[in-house]
Amino acid sequence: MATRSWVSSASGDTDFPIQNLPYGVFDDGKGARLGVAIGEMILDVEKIDHELDPSLFAAPEWNAVMAAGPAVWVTLRARLTELLSDESHRTSIEPRLVAQSQARMLMPFRVTEYTDFYAGRNHAFNVGTMFRGPENALPLNWLSIPIGYNGRASSVVVSGTPVKRPWGQLKGPDDALPRFAPSARFDLELEMGAIVGQPSSGMVSVAQADEMIFGYVLLNDWSARDIQAWEYQPLGPFQSKATATTISPWIVTRAALEPFRTSTPKRERPLLAYLREPGPMIYEIELEVTLAPDGKSETVISRTNFDQLYYSPAQQLCHHTTSGCSMRVGDLLGSGTISGISRENRGSLLELSWGGKEPISLDTGESRSFLEDGDTLVLRGAAHGDGYRIGFGDCAGKIIPAGDLPDWAQE
Ligand code: CA
Repeated sequence: MATRSWVSSASGDTDFPIQNLPYGVFDDGKGARLGVAIGEMILDVEKIDHELDPSLFAAPEWNAVMAAGPAVWVTLRARLTELLSDESHRTSIEPRLVAQSQARMLMPFRVTEYTDFYAGRNHAFNVGTMFRGPENALPLNWLSIPIGYNGRASSVVVSGTPVKRPWGQLKGPDDALPRFAPSARFDLELEMGAIVGQPSSGMVSVAQADEMIFGYVLLNDWSARDIQAWEYQPLGPFQSKATATTISPWIVTRAALEPFRTSTPKRERPLLAYLREPGPMIYEIELEVTLAPDGKSETVISRTNFDQLYYSPAQQLCHHTTSGCSMRVGDLLGSGTISGISRENRGSLLELSWGGKEPISLDTGESRSFLEDGDTLVLRGAAHGDGYRIGFGDCAGKIIPAGDLPDWAQE
């Protein structure tokens, strides 16, 4: 495997060394195209010399490449590695590089369906404790089933898209009527998104599910806690999770993450046979969240690791197919909030501020229980190898005000 690129910015302090080669869609003012990140640059994939069907790269989304299957994934990655590491290709390839600073990133793939899981044990325990008390924090089913709900593909947006604070129905005091108001407990959820690159019909094993995953993105499942608390029984979250889900702009491939495979945490109850993992199915990826009030500097508010997730994306995907549910190319699986054990490892403000009872302090001197208008949230993640890191790029979103209520909704 190549360890160096002739692109100078691909060595040293970068999310995108030659070992990464993540896939995105960019626009540098000349239209949306497929690109591969290398150092501070983007290689325009459309015009490179390869043996693959050119139609795979025609649309500004990676779905066609995903649909083409694992043999094409391997061929493309090998060719890109060769072109960007072998000095003999420099003269022909260098003019096709675009500076990331000159490009706007767009959605890297068309999200066909979106499911959000709840597979982080510490998060499920913390939220359960706050909503139902410590005795009933973790429902009996939780240690046997990767819990999830069917989300909205239309809610998924790329990093940099502003997020408008939602209006919603909130519980009134005691038995009083609910009220309609902007969410006052708007929150983030630090998650990873797994992108399904191959379709299924019928049930697949955990091993098959792992092979179906094309790559990963960082994912922020914006959540309105006050709307959620009122609406969630008995069918689970609905409008509280439908405002927006932000993903990072680069698809980091399963191939790039291969050296960082590790095992999920120890099982607390034995799993049924179909859900048992045949090998390490999760990755060591360090994750962090920063919060910056409007016009001010950012504070790291959480640090955790993907390997804290109790159920791997492969287990989630396997379970998803048990009903016979077909999976599609471009299906996105949110992992569930990834919280570690300690307070500073919690992946949501709900947990960090313990339901608003213990506001957190920012380096600016301000404090937060939940998000305020103008706040910018950034998720970052990287797997650390020997002398390099596999990064994801920023997954950012700024909160903008809810705006006025239309006349027809006024009481
Ligand atoms: Ca979530």
